[in-house]
Amino acid sequence: MADRSEQSSSSNSRKRKRNPEEWKKNKRKSLRNRGKEYETASKSGEKRTFAAKQLGKDCRCPLKCFEKVTLERRENVFEGFWELGDWTAQNAFLCGSVKVTAVKRRYAKKGEASLHSRRNYSRQYYINDNGMSTRVFKKAFLAIYAISNGRLSRALSKMQSVGSPQTDQRGRHEPKNKTPEEDVQFVRAHIQSFPTESSHYCRKDKANLSGTCSYFKETV
Ligand SMILES: [Zn+2]
Repeated sequence: MADRSEQSSSSNSRKRKRNPEEWKKNKRKSLRNRGKEYETASKSGEKRTFAAKQLGKDCRCPLKCFEKVTLERRENVFEGFWELGDWTAQNAFLCGSVKVTAVKRRYAKKGEASLHSRRNYSRQYYINDNGMSTRVFKKAFLAIYAISNGRLSRALSKMQSVGSPQTDQRGRHEPKNKTPEEDVQFVRAHIQSFPTESSHYCRKDKANLSGTCSYFKETV
């Protein structure tokens, strides 16, 4: 076909115009979305290399998330996530792995500065694969998917703003730093599941949850 010759492409057809810059950009985007190494170059030509994503390191938290999710599972979900190769799909996946619950209702006392509009949520992070669902803490969740805290919170806040209308939160205000009851029970059950020799993580007194709970508040 004569009209596909390259010589004629610059003159009259927009479709056939070559755009090496666009290709580079797409290639870079694709590499980035698949968690591969990619480079950017500033106008001055200065190159910046972004390393390939790697399964993150053990959170080493006292709750041993990495022992609950085996290395094989961690590798699987990591690869599956980056193989999606699409930023939006990945964000949707992340949102689907996080359970967001409104903090439980507590009626305001009379005269208390009530009805303030701050909405409190607690988030629980799950590793879901092959019909298994394992709750981990945020730090482990970020490490397993090799994503930044910023990316996760942007994805989640977008989801919340476009999600279903929130239920009326008036009168629901527990202290901001209060750990929701469900979370406390999760931590407690988890600690009880520790083999005894690992108790150096949570001090000698097994009943003393204070160390764990302060960690918990910081990370959730
Ligand atoms: Zn952990």
